Amino acid sequence: MGRRKKIVQECEELMDEPEQIRNIAIAAHVDHGKTTLTDNLLAGAGMIADADEATQLVMDTEEDEQERGITIDAANVSMTHEYEDENHLINLIDTPGHVDFGGDVTRAMRAVDGALVVVDAVEGAMPQTETVVRQALREGVKPALFINKVDRLISELQEGPEEMQQRLQDVIADVNELIRGMTEEMDDIEEDWTVSVEEGTVGFGSALYKWGVSLPSMQRTGMSFGDIIELEQDHKRQELHERTPLSDVVLDMVAEHFPNPLKAQPFRVPRIWRGDDESDIAEDMRTVNRDGDIVFMATDIGMDPHAGEIVTGRVFSGTLEKGQELYVSGTAGKNRVQSVGIYMGGEREELDRGVPAGNVAAVTGLKDAIAGSTVSDKEMTPFESIEHISEPVITKS
Ligand code: GDP
Repeated sequence: MGRRKKIVQECEELMDEPEQIRNIAIAAHVDHGKTTLTDNLLAGAGMIADADEATQLVMDTEEDEQERGITIDAANVSMTHEYEDENHLINLIDTPGHVDFGGDVTRAMRAVDGALVVVDAVEGAMPQTETVVRQALREGVKPALFINKVDRLISELQEGPEEMQQRLQDVIADVNELIRGMTEEMDDIEEDWTVSVEEGTVGFGSALYKWGVSLPSMQRTGMSFGDIIELEQDHKRQELHERTPLSDVVLDMVAEHFPNPLKAQPFRVPRIWRGDDESDIAEDMRTVNRDGDIVFMATDIGMDPHAGEIVTGRVFSGTLEKGQELYVSGTAGKNRVQSVGIYMGGEREELDRGVPAGNVAAVTGLKDAIAGSTVSDKEMTPFESIEHISEPVITKS
């Protein structure tokens, strides 16, 4: 069997195992390294040959988009990752880094259950870091932290271990202050969502040089802080990458600490949907019922030269299939689903089968859908409007 076919088969199998799915976003202040990190994860998960190729692919797509006058501000990618002998399907919804895209960031956050917040170690938490953390928490999305560009602290700023640890602790403290400030007012969050090195919800490293560490990874590899500083000082980055690859550290963190849809949806649905919580549809969404009514939330509209408009989003309930006639919130009449697919790496793969609840789907035929639309087989209360949840004030339900 060809490599591509094998990966598709693997993804298809995992689609039916909601425990193994993680829907996540990477969110960051512009230039803090989100793109570099994403490419790295894809390469590390074996979805593309290497990160340089990924960058090339992304750039090619952008050029193509520019030529056709289309701007796509959110790329969606999926990958598989083995953690503790279990394979996982990790769907990554990209969030635009620019603050003007606030609405899009929120839409992307709605489709995911975990957000990896990337902060540049040199710059520290910036205004957009605060914005993305707020947006994630407001949507009931659990945060984790990756402190990037740590190579610069060592090689450029020549910081010693104490100075460096202090700086990393300051970044963690700033992010936690934001998290604490918001979660204190969220009665429905029972767990402590602040990030911590000890818990393994903080990673740090270099997306550029492809190495990363977390406390669990250091325990596993036996590498100390001192080893890392020494190797980076000596510019032995390839060795650092081989001994502690960034993608493993980050994807392990995702698999271990971000909730799967079964855990996330019962908690998130009441936050993002204000319909009748006694209804069947509410129950279907809370239980991620693949046999229930269809509820799909569109997060992004892209363009494919052959297939036309591609609507990407999260299936909250039911199973999305070719040929279904679905309502699109805010429009009259129904749209017919022409094809359904999933992402494999950065590429869309059409499937002969349906995409069940808990997954991210790429759909054609939903011509009336816009980013933010609720798509369903029965008329229903749409998800909360973006404007409402974008308000800076936290509202308790
Ligand atoms: P984005 O705007 O958050 O997507 O940021 P990019 O991934 O495009 O990175 C912005 C710039 O920072 C680029 O020039 C990258 O090469 C650089 N960069 C990203 N990660 C690192 C890192 O870990 N170390 C260093 N030194 N530079 C990095």
